[in-house]
Amino acid sequence: MSGEPQDDCLFCKIIAGQIPATVVRETETTFAFRDINPQAPTHVLVIPRAHHVDAAALAAAEPALAADVLREAGEIARAEKLDSYRIVFNTGAGAGQTVFHAHAHVLGGRGLQWPPG
Ligand code: 5GP
Ligand code: ZN
Repeated sequence: MSGEPQDDCLFCKIIAGQIPATVVRETETTFAFRDINPQAPTHVLVIPRAHHVDAAALAAAEPALAADVLREAGEIARAEKLDSYRIVFNTGAGAGQTVFHAHAHVLGGRGLQWPPG
């Protein structure tokens, strides 16, 4: 069911503490940790504690929770002293989504090309 923890979801396991992660920030509704394969000096993943497959599904089901994720992305950028940064939601395998639990990538600390690859 949408929102419920999924046994086969890597990020639900990280939230549950079953898989270790370098935690950056936690709130009642969100969890943020460093990407295991960073693509920039700062590369943090912000996820809702509730399981939703992607950002659009999250926003459709729980708009306030989607806003929590975005607010946390901004707080992380501020804490990491990033003047400029990018928030990315890969959606669908063709766009590089590999974990089907909604997550914002917060990337910064180097020059970021536009358009992205
Ligand atoms: P996606 O490709 O779905 O947009 O993003 C998934 C991200 O999760 C990737 O950037 C990948 O490096 C990261 N990732 C995959 N497995 C783990 C893990 O076990 N721990 C952490 N911290 N990040 C992970
Ligand atoms: Zn999940």
